Amino acid sequence: MNSQAPELIISELGEHHGVQFLLARDELTHPELPGNKWRKLKHNLQEADRLGLNTLLTFGGAYSNHLAAVAAAGRLLGRRTVGFVRGDELASRPLNSTLTRARADGMELHFLDRETYRRKHEPEVLTAFLRETGPAYVLPEGGTNALALPGCAELARQLLARTTFDVLAVACGTGGTLAGLLTGLDGQRQALGVAALKGADFLRADIDQLTQQATGRTYTNWELHTDYHGGGYARLSPELRQFIGGFQQRHGILLDPIYTSKLLFGMFDLAAKGHFQRGSTVMAIHTGGLQAWGGFGGAPG
Ligand SMILES: *Cc1c(COP(=O)(O)O)cnc(C)c1O
Repeated sequence: MNSQAPELIISELGEHHGVQFLLARDELTHPELPGNKWRKLKHNLQEADRLGLNTLLTFGGAYSNHLAAVAAAGRLLGRRTVGFVRGDELASRPLNSTLTRARADGMELHFLDRETYRRKHEPEVLTAFLRETGPAYVLPEGGTNALALPGCAELARQLLARTTFDVLAVACGTGGTLAGLLTGLDGQRQALGVAALKGADFLRADIDQLTQQATGRTYTNWELHTDYHGGGYARLSPELRQFIGGFQQRHGILLDPIYTSKLLFGMFDLAAKGHFQRGSTVMAIHTGGLQAWGGFGGAPG
C-alpha cells in the first residue's frame, strides 16, 4: 500500500473465568482493506504483478467479504477487477450493499447460476470465464491459496514480537488464515480456530494440507472447534445477536455477524468450561468483516 498502515492495536478484554483475553484489532489496520482478506490478498497481488496480470478475477456470494476486499484493492491499487457472483437471480434485483460498493469500486460483476458457480474451479469452466474477461489472475472463492498464507504469517510474527500470549485464536471459513498464522507461529504457542460454518470437520485436513504446501510442515500446536457455528454460516441466531450487543456495550467494539462474533462467543464459553489454564492469556484476532452487516439490516447501535 502507498499509505502507511497504522500500528496494530491490541485491546484488553479483561479476565473471564481466570483467563486474560486480548483482542488484536486487525479490523482497524486499514480503513478500506481491513482484516484478513487484505492479508490473504497481499502476496497474491505481488504474484499477479510478477506475472504481468493487471486483472484480478474472483468469486463470491452476494455478501462476500472477499469480493468486497478484492474490489477495494482494485480501486486503491489501480487493478481491473472482475467478480463472478453466486446466483443469477441477483442480476434482475437491486444490488445489495456489498455489490453496490464493489461496483462503485470498479468491479465488473457477472452473475452465475448455482450449477455453474459450483463448477467454477473446473478447468473448462474457468477457461470459458477467461475467454470472456481476457487474461486474469484468478483468486479462489474466499481468497485462500498457498500465497494467502504468508500475509497471515506476518501477523502472527508481529503479535509474537509485540506481546506475550499463550493461545492465538481466530475464526475460520476456509482455514487459510489459521494455516497462515500457524506457519508464522512456527510451532510456538497454541493456536485455536472456531469454524463459522456447520459440519466443518474437513477443515482440519485442509489446514494441514495448506501448511504442508506452504512450508513442507504440518503442525500439532492447534485445535479447531466446530460447534460454535450457531446454526450455520451466515445464520445470526438471537443468542449471537444478543452476545454482539453485550460485547459492544462492555468493550465498545463491534464484532462482525459471521466470524468474529462466533469466535469470541466460543472463547468465553470455553473459558467458562475450564478449557484454558487459569492465568493464561488468549489473544483473539478481530479479522474484520464488518461490511457484512449490510446483509443483516445494518450494524446494531
Ligand atoms: C473470511 C473471513 C474469516 C475466515 O478466514 P479463512 O481464511 O477463510 O478461514 C474470518 N473472519 C472474517 C471477518 C472473514 O471475512
